[in-house]
Amino acid sequence: MAPSDLLRPALLAAARSPRMERTVTKIPVTRNLVDRFVAGETEDQAIAATTDILDSGRYISIDHLGEDTTDLGQASGTVSHYLTLLSSLAQLAPATDNGNGPRNIEISLKLSALGQFLPRDGHDVALENAHKICTAAEEAGVWVTVDAEDHTTTDSTLSIVGELREDFPTLGTVLQAYLKRTEADCRDLSGPGSRIRLCKGAYKEPASVAYQGKPAVDDAYLRCLRILMNGQGYPMVASHDPAMVDAALAQAKATGRTTDEFEIQMLHGIRDTEQLRLVTQQQHVRVYLPYGEQWYGYFMRRLAERPANLAFFLRSLTSKN
Ligand SMILES: Cc1cc2nc3c(=O)[nH]c(=O)nc-3n(C[C@H](O)[C@H](O)[C@H](O)COP(=O)(O)OP(=O)(O)OC[C@H]3O[C@@H](n4cnc5c(N)ncnc54)[C@H](O)[C@@H]3O)c2cc1C
Repeated sequence: MAPSDLLRPALLAAARSPRMERTVTKIPVTRNLVDRFVAGETEDQAIAATTDILDSGRYISIDHLGEDTTDLGQASGTVSHYLTLLSSLAQLAPATDNGNGPRNIEISLKLSALGQFLPRDGHDVALENAHKICTAAEEAGVWVTVDAEDHTTTDSTLSIVGELREDFPTLGTVLQAYLKRTEADCRDLSGPGSRIRLCKGAYKEPASVAYQGKPAVDDAYLRCLRILMNGQGYPMVASHDPAMVDAALAQAKATGRTTDEFEIQMLHGIRDTEQLRLVTQQQHVRVYLPYGEQWYGYFMRRLAERPANLAFFLRSLTSKN
């Protein structure tokens, strides 16, 4: 087993530990590494980064950081953040709107930030909050995609997405290839008009529900990708893995998809040069851009993904500079 396979579960467990959060967020040098992955804490910083990314020919998906709230007021606060963000994005969207093709600007939502985990009526509160955001996004000409969180939320998330799609048919969602159920979900959700972002999956999941280890997850990703590419929806290929990106380009060609009928997605701060190279090859590349104060969980998942990130972080902690 690779050392990173041993560290990953510990880091992902730490991502959900309030005690670890208090410790890690107090370390001054954490900030340097956080800045590589997060656009900043304010909306102005997010809009400035968005403008740069759009100017470079890439598309954008903006995420206001926050997750796992069990506080109704906090969930409402997240809705307000998104509504303000959307009124700023409305200024950018019409100029860059692409008719019926892919929309340049998207926002990403986590239903757990909108109240899905509230002990009473969580499902309904998240649905109602997401509906308000989708209404404003539609008016702003902005796409919405609902992120995937840990497997205990998948049924509720897909059910909320199904209900929302009745009013907002362009709503997209994320499927995680590491979950054993996902091949079947890909088959169910690859019909006309669907928008599915396929990622490997970033949470700590038990072997009963998820493939473990990179080779098994990669194989599952390729199987899911084939289903989506052969389907009738719009696949969004979210991966930094050259093997997954190459497979997506090859399958798009084999299934006769035009460049407007799928896109590649990568996270802000990861493989920037490759993102720009793909744009020069006329591929649509969307950058997932998180911003906000609640960066801890997102940051820890990025550390868990790549030992080099963790090594950099640990070196920063021990460095005197
Ligand atoms: C747009 C987007 C949205 C996402 N949304 C979700 C979501 O809603 N839910 C969820 O659970 N997960 C989400 N994820 C995270 C995802 O599940 C993975 O955890 C993450 O993308 C890492 O997997 P990978 O496919 O990049 O491949 P990995 O197996 O992590 O990496 C494979 C290879 O990619 C290359 N690579 C990876 N990182 C780097 C780097 N920093 N620099 C250079 N090369 C690198 C290397 O060659 C590496 O060997 C999202 C990812 C993206 C890109």
